[in-house]
Amino acid sequence: MYLYNSATHKKEEFKTHTPGRVEMYTCGPTVYHFAHIGNLRSYIMEDVLEKYLRFAGYDVNRVMNITDVGHLSSDADTGEDKMLKGAKRENKTVMDIAKFYTDAFFDDCRKLNIKTPDVVQPATGCIDEYIKIISRLVDTGYAYLAGGNVYFDSSKLARYYIFNDHDEDDLAVGVREGVEEDSNKRNKNDFVLWFTKSKFEDQALKWDSPWGVGYPGWHIECSGISMKYNGEYLDLHCGGVDNAFPHHTNEIAQSESYLGHPWCPYWFHVHHLNDPAGKMSKSKGEFLTVSLLEEKGYDPLAYRWFCLQSHYRKTLVFSWENLDNAAAAYTKLLNRVAALKPEGDVDRAVFDGYREKFLQQVGNDLNTSMAVTAVFDALKAKTNDATKLAVIGEFDKVLSLSLLEKAAALREKAAQTVQSGGGDYVITGEGDPDIDAKVLARYEAKKAKNFAEADRIRDELKAQGIEVTDVKGGASWKRV
Ligand SMILES: [Zn+2]
Repeated sequence: MYLYNSATHKKEEFKTHTPGRVEMYTCGPTVYHFAHIGNLRSYIMEDVLEKYLRFAGYDVNRVMNITDVGHLSSDADTGEDKMLKGAKRENKTVMDIAKFYTDAFFDDCRKLNIKTPDVVQPATGCIDEYIKIISRLVDTGYAYLAGGNVYFDSSKLARYYIFNDHDEDDLAVGVREGVEEDSNKRNKNDFVLWFTKSKFEDQALKWDSPWGVGYPGWHIECSGISMKYNGEYLDLHCGGVDNAFPHHTNEIAQSESYLGHPWCPYWFHVHHLNDPAGKMSKSKGEFLTVSLLEEKGYDPLAYRWFCLQSHYRKTLVFSWENLDNAAAAYTKLLNRVAALKPEGDVDRAVFDGYREKFLQQVGNDLNTSMAVTAVFDALKAKTNDATKLAVIGEFDKVLSLSLLEKAAALREKAAQTVQSGGGDYVITGEGDPDIDAKVLARYEAKKAKNFAEADRIRDELKAQGIEVTDVKGGASWKRV
């Protein structure tokens, strides 16, 4: 596979530390609110990447953290604690908030066919790991104590600005205006590894440490959790592009200083979902969640389809009109798959040819729009339906659009709609001969001008919860 690597700004051949095995890490959600569909775009694309790697034959160990402590509202160690903010807003404890929104996040993932990573670790469960790493960083001079907190000293590193094409002044604080600078820092880009002096008196979660009672900074959790479950050599690190700096830069700084060797060669960053006016945010306009899409009548998988049509390194523009177009295309595709008849033997040579082509095309920097096109190509292939269905099922191991399941459901629904009736009078219904007979009897009574009998039958059907509609050349009925 070839992947664009944010660390080198180049597309490179993907190679792993241990042949055949991928140690993969994903920055997980901060569980203080519902996930925005823009954040879920990253998780969808990371899910496709993981499934592609498995499809290509790799054994993948994917690890994800859940941030339930230490993430402040500014990445520069300032601002309010996000978890505390959520707890205050809803008048709940931080633990309750974490549990509620972790469950909500995985509900969304399930609806979007996002597989749960092999390891999911809440940050509060690995405090000993962080203390171990921070202790060594203090001992080796990469970290210092100031004002009660422990800071990483960014000046000790030659290559700190790995993800940035900007200069130091640009990055400066990585910060919005109005955020106060921390006077304990020796250098602008130093960051907190362990807090003991919290501005928030009511910081709920605190632990003992060699530097006093406190809690970890946000960045250290990903290094600690990854090293615990992925080992010292990580192959692939994923996240949204807004995590690149300072979060990922700081992860690299502390991990490599701790380990004394390179940590992770490949960095995969998914770009933003914007609205036509610019970057979406939770504070602006409608708060777009999977539940909102469902309330508006969209299948969450239509959103997955919408994301797959575009490349992960391009900004994707969301509008209801764009989603409508995607939903219509997705339904059309399902209908086409449903029209295939699962008969005949699978032609292995054709199947293998399509699989190989898919592997090559999608393996070019996770080209998901090509993967979607491949499904349409398979529909047009000169082969039998059984082979087409097998090919589409194979592609769906990566796409996860439930193509075969949903097509089968459509086929079943169509089979339930049967036609009966005599002569030129056609009854369309849900396949119940007793009801069909009554609908026909009503028609015959009407034809014989026995309107009282026709009305009696209609009322009887109504009492059974059957609604009959007269249509050209017959009638259709349904249960209401
Ligand atoms: Zn992270």
